[in-house]
Order: sequence, then structure tokens, then C-alpha cells
Amino acid sequence: MIRMVPRGEYMLTLKARGVLVDGSLEELREELYMTRRAIQYVINILWELDKLPTINQLHQMFYKQLREQGFRAHQAKQIYKYSRALVKSARENGGRKPILRKLSARLDKYDTSIDLENQIVIVKLRNKIFKIKLLHHRDYIRKFIGRKWYEVIISIDKQGRIWVNIPFRWKYEPYKPKRIVSIDINLRKIVVYDGKSIRRVDTRFMEAFSLKIHAEKLQKKYPKTWWYNRRILDRIRSLHRRSRNIVVDWSHKFAKYIILKAKRTRSAIVLEDLEKLWLNAPRKSSILADKLSRFAYRKLQLAIITKAIEYNVPVILVNPMGTSTTCPRCRSKLYYNHRLAICRRCGFITDRDTVGAMNIYLRTLGRMSPLLGWGRSAPAMNDETRGSGRTKDEPMTVHIHL
Ligand SMILES: [Zn+2]
Repeated sequence: MIRMVPRGEYMLTLKARGVLVDGSLEELREELYMTRRAIQYVINILWELDKLPTINQLHQMFYKQLREQGFRAHQAKQIYKYSRALVKSARENGGRKPILRKLSARLDKYDTSIDLENQIVIVKLRNKIFKIKLLHHRDYIRKFIGRKWYEVIISIDKQGRIWVNIPFRWKYEPYKPKRIVSIDINLRKIVVYDGKSIRRVDTRFMEAFSLKIHAEKLQKKYPKTWWYNRRILDRIRSLHRRSRNIVVDWSHKFAKYIILKAKRTRSAIVLEDLEKLWLNAPRKSSILADKLSRFAYRKLQLAIITKAIEYNVPVILVNPMGTSTTCPRCRSKLYYNHRLAICRRCGFITDRDTVGAMNIYLRTLGRMSPLLGWGRSAPAMNDETRGSGRTKDEPMTVHIHL
């Protein structure tokens, strides 16, 4: 019913755009193209085999050949190991043969040097050297200084921009929380409850949603031609891209806001356990709103957990089943008038999302108190928690401009 994001080692990835200080873009593109071709070549061969070769066998099969094409020793190893990993995961998931589309290369530490102080990454691809300056806030880059890394991924996107991804090892050691903050997510707003007050934060998900609706309208308007008509196709793709960017950007901003706030008050963050919610759903709905909800909730949850790992904030995941149907004050059944929840027994009235946030909070408090060594008089658990005062009448609404 309740689980915590476990302590331990995680990978947090530095993602930054880069510009070449040394080396030409055309040469870099050529190297990435060569790398992709080599990986695809290995994949094609592995795909035909009934049993995947061991790393040793791979070495026998491909090392010499790759070296003859000019790949460096560690590059050659990366190429066959990565190809094997792709084939293995495609088979395990019952998927098709992996076809690489992105122009990218993974380099291990022997072919890379990183100078985060000066935001410089130097990579060696075959016999060429490229020096890349990372374009990102200094503060963002600096937080990775001194951490362990094992590989660097360089890619070039369709617009010809260079991207550098470096996964860093991150030790997650969440502090012992003094209190908890629960979060209820829906497309329009997020309700945050800390045991005393309710805060509502408007999301930008509806904006993302309206762009999706617009894209779908275009597809319906040109049912036969949209796929072939370059201009319409570009417009549709651009709408989807903008929609996605809004969700991703807003999720990052909200995650940062809520995690820093939790850290200041030594709180644990409580989220609905979405994994369980959707696995139990009888059928995954293909309705646009549901699809966007799933995407947005996942992105937001991932963003919050990632930030939590970065700042050692504990995260608790709770099965949300039934959290909107019981009265947070007296535990009897709630009645709904549209989104307004009414308790006929004690007179508690509020909206559905507030009920969700409060019940998730209460459910966690009940389960976590013994685990956290909290006594009977758990922090932040007072009369107000039971939904009197402000919560009953007009919940405080806070608009946060992120
Ligand atoms: Zn009640």
C-alpha cells in the first residue's frame, strides 16, 4: 500500500547543449554517422542469432573488424556491448529489431575528458578530437563536480544542435522526515497538503492539452492527406512538440519548487503510486485527455523523484485507491455533486482534489508514524488536520508563477 523510493545509488544525468570549440560539425556528424552504422551492423548480425554471444565472444567476432575501420579500442568495445544491450532488451520486451535513428555515440572515460569548472568536454572519436563547450547555467553544471561518471553520450539533433549527456552516480540518502506533504495531481491543478493548509497550484497541462486537441482537429480535418502533406504534417508535429515541452518544462519547475520547499521544512513528499493505479485499470484508455494525463503525471512524478534524489528528500508512494470516497474528517462515505465532495454525516464540504490530497496525507501518516518513530502525537497532526476552519469554507489558493 505504501512504499518509499529506496535509498541507494542512482544515476542523474547532466544534459546540456554544446558548441564546438575545436573540430568541425561536419566531421563530428560523420563520426556519429560511422558509429551508428557500426552499431546497426552489429545489431543486424546479433538479431539473426538464436543465442546472444557473451562479451568475450563478441570481442572475437567484432573487435578486429571495428579496429580496422579506425575505431579506438574502447570505442569498439562500447559499440558491441551497446548493440548487445539493445538486442537483449528488444528481445526481452518482445519487440522488433532495433533500428537506430538518432545520430549519437557513447564514449567511455578512456576516450573522454571532462572539465566541469570550465564547462568543457573533450571527446575522441576514431582519430579525431572534438572539444565541446557546454551551454548551461554555471550553477547547474557545478552541482555535478566531484561526482563519478562512466560515459558521455554525444548526439546531434535534426536542427544540427549538439547535445551532451553525462550520467553521474548519485548517492541518495533521504533524511528522516519531521513531517509530510501530500500532493494530488490532476490536469488543471495540483493540491498540496501539509496537515495544516491546502495549497493549489495551477498547472500548465491544460495548455499542453489544447495544443494536442488542435493537432487532432487538423488530423480530422485532413483525414486522408495529413500524413502526406508536408505543411500540415509539420504543423501537427510542431503542436505535439510544443505540448510535450510545456509538460516537461512545467514539471521540472514544479518539482524544483516542491522539493526545495520540502527540504526547508524537513518534509517527506507523498505522491500517488501511479504504477499501481494504471496496472489495475481494466484497459488503457486511448481518449486524448487520458493519454495526456498519463504522460503528464508520469513526467511530473519522474521530475519530482529525480529532484528528490538530488536533494535527499524522502518520497513516499501511496496507492490512491479509494482516497476520494471517504470523508477525511469522520471517515464516512462522501457524496459527490460534480467535483464537490459532501459528507452527510459531519458536514465536511470540499472539492475532489482536496479530498484526495488530505486522504493521501492521512493514509501515509497512519502507516508511516511507527516506521518513522513518531509517537502518538505525530507532528502536524492536530485538529486542523481534520478539516476544520479554512479548509471547510474557502481553501487558500496560491498561484505560483514558476
Ligand atoms: Zn465526514
